[in-house]
Amino acid sequence: MKIHFLGTCAGTEPMMGRQHMSFVIETRGALYWFDAGEGCSRTAHIKGLDLLSVKAVVISHPHMDHTGGLANLIWNISAISANYGLPHKFGELLLFVPLKNVWSGAETLLDADGASYKRRLSVVPCLMTDGVLFDDGAVKITAYHNMHIRRAEGEPWRSFSFRIEAEGKAIVYSGDIRELQELDSAIGEGCDCAITETGHFKIDAVHAYYAEKNVGCVYFSHNGREILGDSEGSREKVAALFGCRGVIAEDCMTVDV
Ligand SMILES: [Zn+2]
Repeated sequence: MKIHFLGTCAGTEPMMGRQHMSFVIETRGALYWFDAGEGCSRTAHIKGLDLLSVKAVVISHPHMDHTGGLANLIWNISAISANYGLPHKFGELLLFVPLKNVWSGAETLLDADGASYKRRLSVVPCLMTDGVLFDDGAVKITAYHNMHIRRAEGEPWRSFSFRIEAEGKAIVYSGDIRELQELDSAIGEGCDCAITETGHFKIDAVHAYYAEKNVGCVYFSHNGREILGDSEGSREKVAALFGCRGVIAEDCMTVDV
């Protein structure tokens, strides 16, 4: 399977060459989309990914650096379907959200634009909870709540991390987290790679955490000012600490798992 990084920036101010968080897993002719930061569908289309193959979209939490491109993603799938006279491959698109408003906000924008997407695509919103979100036999996605967004007693959890299993491999995606130890459950006995948000953590802390874990490769994404402020120095530091097991992900980067 492949991981396509579409946006690798945290919710900082706009950064040259980096857009907000989004990546896609490609396996068995389908795309599984994680977070939808600004411009993610544009980047995917320009990169040559087939937007008509998006089977599921998973939004880790409601912050704008993870949701700003959601309405545009749906609109672009519909536009490509109309322009090329081709149907969406799966007819319906499963959308996993941690909060109803993430979809209703995007839907309001799409409806204000004439709701033309409804003629070509059925979006099925599903409210996220802990446990297996999705299992189509090819890909299994399990959600684990984290403390990035605190909740009042009795309220539902609003931010999640994920374990994604496909082709006999496992990928852990942190979403945004408060403490790296919140990933313990998703990593379990280990995983082949970990896509880790580094917008809230220093390189040394990420290295110390993964030194104890059975994890193949660590991809730094959702990069913040700490890493982007000195890109060259950060790359050298990651290389020195992790060797080839650590990579600072870039927008448009594709890796094989
Ligand atoms: Zn974020």
